[in-house]
Amino acid sequence: MESDSDVPCAVVLPMTEIDVDNFASLEESSPSDVMQPTTFSLATREPLQSAPPTIANQKVLNVFVVSTYAGGSPPQNAVSIFNLIDDMSQDFRVSGNAWENHHFAILGCGEQVYGKNFNRFAISLQEVLSRKGGYAIFGKPHLSDIDTTERDTAKFIVRLKKYLSAETKCTPVITAKPKKQRKESAEADIEEAAGTEDGAADEMINPRIRQGLTKQGYTLFGTHSGVKLCRWTKSMMRGHGGCYKHTFYGISSLACMEMTPSLACANKCVFCWRHHTNPTAREWRWKHDPPEFVINGALDGHRRMLKVLRGVPGVTEERLREAMQVRHCALSLVGEPIIYPEINKLIQLMHQNEISTFLVTNAQFPDRIRDLPPATQLYVSVDAGDKASLQAIDRPIFEDFWDRYLECIRLLALKKQRTVFRLTLVKNYNVEQIDGYISLVRLGKPEFIEVKGVTYCGDNGEDGISMRNVPYHHEVIDFCKLLLERIGDTYDIACEHEHSCCVLLARKEFKIDGVWHTWINYSKFFELARSGEPFTSMDYLLPTPDWGVYGSAEKGFDPSQIKKKLRHKGPIAGGC
Ligand code: SF4
Repeated sequence: MESDSDVPCAVVLPMTEIDVDNFASLEESSPSDVMQPTTFSLATREPLQSAPPTIANQKVLNVFVVSTYAGGSPPQNAVSIFNLIDDMSQDFRVSGNAWENHHFAILGCGEQVYGKNFNRFAISLQEVLSRKGGYAIFGKPHLSDIDTTERDTAKFIVRLKKYLSAETKCTPVITAKPKKQRKESAEADIEEAAGTEDGAADEMINPRIRQGLTKQGYTLFGTHSGVKLCRWTKSMMRGHGGCYKHTFYGISSLACMEMTPSLACANKCVFCWRHHTNPTAREWRWKHDPPEFVINGALDGHRRMLKVLRGVPGVTEERLREAMQVRHCALSLVGEPIIYPEINKLIQLMHQNEISTFLVTNAQFPDRIRDLPPATQLYVSVDAGDKASLQAIDRPIFEDFWDRYLECIRLLALKKQRTVFRLTLVKNYNVEQIDGYISLVRLGKPEFIEVKGVTYCGDNGEDGISMRNVPYHHEVIDFCKLLLERIGDTYDIACEHEHSCCVLLARKEFKIDGVWHTWINYSKFFELARSGEPFTSMDYLLPTPDWGVYGSAEKGFDPSQIKKKLRHKGPIAGGC
């Protein structure tokens, strides 16, 4: 393995998910008398194991493939190794040319929507490695954007191959620069990467997004919208029970369509089951389809997916007919629906077609929330009770994300129709923040608070969650009780749906003469919405059936349905 050649061998050190096979081709480019490229992940090794290899008299080419975490920091499981390298780089006892035999190249995998934090970690890593004489073979990190990662990786590998096959003697150069110069360099890197784009796409759905989301079962239509058949719709079509919204608000899960008019989002939440295949954006920057097209495209795509269920055991013609007549729309599939420029018109069209709207927003666009027309039920995802946790969980791209969040919540209090806080509990992330949640509830005064255990839908990669983060139903109830104890006398537990690990807290006004009224009178709502006259949530109520009320023997399962035994104990994945 050892050689006194001046030609560096290559060690590929990925700090993000990459297809390491791509780098195997480096082997062909390396001269045969030197160590061949090896690939391992810094993220899965102990820091000391991961320290760059040191071989006497041999230069080593360390190829780092790195992503960037919230606020420009290293990805979570590369923090230890980065801190180790950073500490060494600042330790006066370590010689100034200690890493002169370490040549390096960095491929940053980032997203330009993060602005000045685009590939920030790749840039920081370059600075740190340069401090003790590490030699950056390309001068700067190679920064790629999510839309062009494949192409950029290929280019990067070509550059590496050229470098390795040149067999030129490499003279170590200390590339650390004065602070001011380094800043300019970082900015130039960002601009350079921005310039490598193909130009602004005029359609949101590009081949990468289409491929990623289609693989996950979405039907995409037009240039920015998608629809997916919810697992609860399928369940109720087979007579096996509806979702928690059936229990809490009386929707018919089999007549529910889950869709979004915008696949783009301003967050990259750790629990998002879309695996971040959708684009991230601060504002709408694509051409848009008219709302009539969006509603027709959604209904069309939804009905095509329903037809496929014909013949599935339990799916009767009667249920299929009922399902074809869509009566509810969950605008919460993926992305942020309210950035679609014609969201208001779309909501109104839905109501004209007697389709109720359950609109979920992630609280980053206050202007849009202010201007929204009445939705049947308006949700804000309240993913954390304090700023640091919100940043860690939602990984927002806005720098003023916390102010936006608070403003959206404040605006919710001004709405006259039904408002809901959606709390998704992620163990070890956000369950300890009771005080923060209480302040937010006081600010937003939601009529309902849905508390739901996060659903685990497979590994989301380095920042994802695992089954360890999924609370049990009894833990969700305990959390609700703690919240109630501290919040005062305004709310109480109204309903539960054990199947999806979800509990509903409602303001006590909804308990009329001792009976909870959390269900919705949909035809009354459409009438009110079409009238153009002011109305409030108290104008379209219905009593909650006994089986839906918290503490019932059914635990929220509709007794007219046939319960299927769960194969696992956690909540069911899918749904909204
Ligand atoms: S989980 Fe959401 S999308 Fe599925 S049926 Fe219920 S409301 Fe509709």
